[in-house]
Amino acid sequence: MQTLPEFRNEPFVDFRQPANAEGMRAALQQVAQQLGKQYPLRIGGKDVQAKAEVISTSPASPALVIGRHAEADAAVVPQAIAAGEAAFATWSVRPVEERVELLLQAAKRMRERKFEFCAWLTFEAGKNWAEADADTAEAIDFLEFYAREAVRLSQSAPRIQYPGERNEFVYVPLGVGAVIPPWNFPLAIMAGMTAAAIVTGNTVLLKPSPLAPTIAARFLMLLEECGMPAGVVTLLQGGAALGSAIVEHPAIHFISFTGSKKVGLDIQSKAAQVAPGQRWIKRTILELGGKDAIIVEDDADLDAAADGVVASACGFSGQKCSACSRVIVNEKVHDTFVQKLAQRMAALAIGDPAENRAVGPVISEDSYNRILGYIFDAAQKGKVLAGGAAQTPAAEGYYIQPTLIAGLTPADRICQEEVFGPVLAVLKARDFDDALAIANDTEYGLTGAVYSRDEKKLKRAAAEFHVGNLYFNRKCTGAMVGAHPFGGFKMSGTDSKAGGADYLLLFTQAKSINYKL
Ligand code: NAD
Repeated sequence: MQTLPEFRNEPFVDFRQPANAEGMRAALQQVAQQLGKQYPLRIGGKDVQAKAEVISTSPASPALVIGRHAEADAAVVPQAIAAGEAAFATWSVRPVEERVELLLQAAKRMRERKFEFCAWLTFEAGKNWAEADADTAEAIDFLEFYAREAVRLSQSAPRIQYPGERNEFVYVPLGVGAVIPPWNFPLAIMAGMTAAAIVTGNTVLLKPSPLAPTIAARFLMLLEECGMPAGVVTLLQGGAALGSAIVEHPAIHFISFTGSKKVGLDIQSKAAQVAPGQRWIKRTILELGGKDAIIVEDDADLDAAADGVVASACGFSGQKCSACSRVIVNEKVHDTFVQKLAQRMAALAIGDPAENRAVGPVISEDSYNRILGYIFDAAQKGKVLAGGAAQTPAAEGYYIQPTLIAGLTPADRICQEEVFGPVLAVLKARDFDDALAIANDTEYGLTGAVYSRDEKKLKRAAAEFHVGNLYFNRKCTGAMVGAHPFGGFKMSGTDSKAGGADYLLLFTQAKSINYKL
């Protein structure tokens, strides 16, 4: 196998360059011509009749239809499993080079059509240009990174060769599995989970979120253009009922899920039920929610901290699992710092992501209502220092003002539950001990950050701040594939560390083979 060049993260696009801004505008126009298109249900390379449709609309303009997708009901799951099993028979034994080549080809073509993928993300998920670019760049990174990791795994060997024997150690795939991603990184997470599963020789039933079905459909078209055989990935569009039917099917070997704690725990319990005829333990890879905190100490650079907190809390309207939703501020600098936050949050431009405004809409009317409910509830107890309301009525787009609420206590609902919107709660800490105790006092443990110039505090936080991804003197969002393998502790998931060296192992089982000489 040819040696692949060293992995490098895909550079972000500089939209200040006129050529890039023009490229993005042209892609938005080109994709606008394709909105509302119908996408069939295809199983094993053949079209299958569907009774209903998943219709995706724009969060920025709810009357605008993005795509109409033939919906898969639970009855077609056995057919999709059969297609996956048939494909597994050949895909799993193909030389790893061929599976790696599929990922590399997909990365290459996605890079060539980067603005087009960004434009789909802008229309369907409401991402502004930089957020859409970050999602697309991460998808490319996952494809490139897992391609290299698959090569590395294929070259593994046992540590010890016992005298008088030849020993081999190989990683083999599990079988047909389920990939169930969320809507918030509808390209990167969906493509990353799928790529990891198939490059290791598995075949998958991919059920994207009904809030972002078109991006998954476009990715599947890309894989097919790159020569992916039928049945390696079967795209099934639908919601919770379809997801459950896939998870419960006895022929499913593994479930790779990213989404909410509630659904993740439901999947965990369903996967533990052994169905009649089931011959293996279903493996679950569950990456769930967060209640991420940034600690700001009195010795910190307060302007840098305010910039980092606002970016972490308001980027993509706070709809990242890694988003900062609690800022824990040392009481000595609390009032000064909170003022800096309020000024910055109030200055953010809210508006159409296609026009590249800083803060776009939240994903759906349900989200819009849920987030406003949290704001209303917290405003009864605390003090709203910025935002605090919807920016537009829901019919005109699901825009919510970036909201800052102080005067809360750590046990308040808004400081414990994941809100998943542009809402930041401020908590006052007496000292660093108190700050760490508050930070750790939720059921989640996904990301966190500390702003301080004191090395001793950072060292303590490294040991005691109990999260899967911890950052010092920078924002708590924006994990980079390879550099910051991503996954959470506690109720934030099974800590799979996507984009890390351990990730592909989760989609394989290792086999020891011994030859007596
Ligand atoms: P969700 O749990 O509502 O849905 C996730 C996926 O599960 C969707 O495809 C959905 O259709 C499907 N689903 C829903 N009910 C199901 C069921 N009963 N059985 C099987 N599948 C079912 O989550 P969401 O709203 O799409 O995404 C937001 C959540 O994802 C947040 O909690 C966020 O923190 C989390 N998230 C976590 C990470 C991470 O890496 N830890 C990354 C991104 C998002």
